[in-house]
Amino acid sequence: MEDSFDEDCDYLFKAVLIGDSAVGKSNLLSRFSKNEFRLDSKPTIGVEFAYRNIKIGDKLIKAQIWDTAGQERFRAITSSYYRGALGALLVYDITRQKTFENVKKWLKELREFGNTDMVVVLVGNKLDLGKSSREVNEEEGRSLAETEGLCFMETSALENLNVEEAFLNMITKIHEITIQKSL
Ligand code: GDP
Repeated sequence: MEDSFDEDCDYLFKAVLIGDSAVGKSNLLSRFSKNEFRLDSKPTIGVEFAYRNIKIGDKLIKAQIWDTAGQERFRAITSSYYRGALGALLVYDITRQKTFENVKKWLKELREFGNTDMVVVLVGNKLDLGKSSREVNEEEGRSLAETEGLCFMETSALENLNVEEAFLNMITKIHEITIQKSL
């Protein structure tokens, strides 16, 4: 594993996690990174990130995924967080309506500071609590995603539902766009 971390890759790109505090961003990232890469941090700008190598066809892709490390709580996310990011997982908590209402605010920020053709996956997390405490219907999430041209998925970091799928969906789409651009 140590070796593959530094292996030459065909593509390297950055993606970010964004959304309100406590929606599950860190848990999604550590679930996705489990056993497969190491977590790293850049204390100077206070973000955390993780790498993951993914094979698509015969190409090796290295995705660097950034986490806010709680800075969204203080509205302290700066444009450098988004700079150069080709993708984003925009996360809300299906048990807290307010986090869904704030999706539009995060989207505005992503569009202001991120790449114009950034791949955004809207993620409704905490699906495991869906039966007992859901405040946002799946349809509401899907419909917002459709209106805004985003991919959509409900996940549970706790029960590891759709987590791999959400990240891979984003990474595969970024790869497709990168290939189209290079043709
Ligand atoms: P962040 O602030 O967005 O990075 O959120 P965290 O990953 O720190 O999670 C916030 C809280 O939500 C923690 O108490 C987690 O244990 C909990 N949490 C995260 N994901 C899930 C999930 O899928 N289901 C449930 N039930 N709890 C979760």
